[in-house]
Amino acid sequence: MTGGDPWMTHEMARERGSAAVAFDRGLSQLLTIAKTDGSLEEVDNPRWLKHRLESIKTLQRTISAEETTLKARFGMAPEAPLPRERHNAGLKRRHGQLRAIHSKIAWQRHDFYHKRTALLVSTFAFLGTEELDVKNMRRAPKAKPDPDRPGEFLPNGAAAKAGLDRGILDAAPSMLIGMLKYEAEEAGAWFAMANTRRVKPTQRCHRRGALVKKELSERTHRCSCGCVCDRDENAARTLLRGLLEGEFWSGTDQGRPPTAAPPETLPIAAAAVWAE
Ligand SMILES: [Zn+2]
Repeated sequence: MTGGDPWMTHEMARERGSAAVAFDRGLSQLLTIAKTDGSLEEVDNPRWLKHRLESIKTLQRTISAEETTLKARFGMAPEAPLPRERHNAGLKRRHGQLRAIHSKIAWQRHDFYHKRTALLVSTFAFLGTEELDVKNMRRAPKAKPDPDRPGEFLPNGAAAKAGLDRGILDAAPSMLIGMLKYEAEEAGAWFAMANTRRVKPTQRCHRRGALVKKELSERTHRCSCGCVCDRDENAARTLLRGLLEGEFWSGTDQGRPPTAAPPETLPIAAAAVWAE
């Protein structure tokens, strides 16, 4: 994707009806959105976020090299943390740059999420996703923030790199969900979260409902029913099925029923659930 903002000109920005969507949240794609017409849409993290991630990594490499030099000069062990009072001017400046990048990310992320969530709730009447955190806990451990240096991370073994990527690219799933809830309330759309342990969106085949176990590294869903698709696509479609059929749903829906008529494409049984 080059230039402009393809998201804003996409077909999703059509007039809102009673359409429903469910989306999977991931690291490779910020959102994978399944719609009732069978189409799929992927929303990637913005390019500026990836650029900033690269800037952070470059800065941290420089900082690490400078600290190693200083520690050697002070006769300190390489693994010992360098106390703040021993930072030279250059090191202080680079730490400042790092903090500035992190706060810029926070602002831009807020703006990005706000625009996307506002468009989603103005386009769709029913929105669903997986509940928070359950999936995250199975993924790479988060990088530990360094208490002495805001915006930086303590080494935590092999997880540090994955943790940094995840920390930057997907730092705020709760912010995204919180904003969606709020925007949905404002727009009169209905937003729900699936009970992950019951729905098992990643493991469950969206076509026939069978459970197909897969490791975290397996990116493709292959079911004995003949269904083969991307892992995140399957999760999004399974979540949509749960949203439409109501059978997997936890009911964490802000405590109020749908305010609009169910989509016409719903099966009769599902429409009955919505009508209750
Ligand atoms: Zn299947």
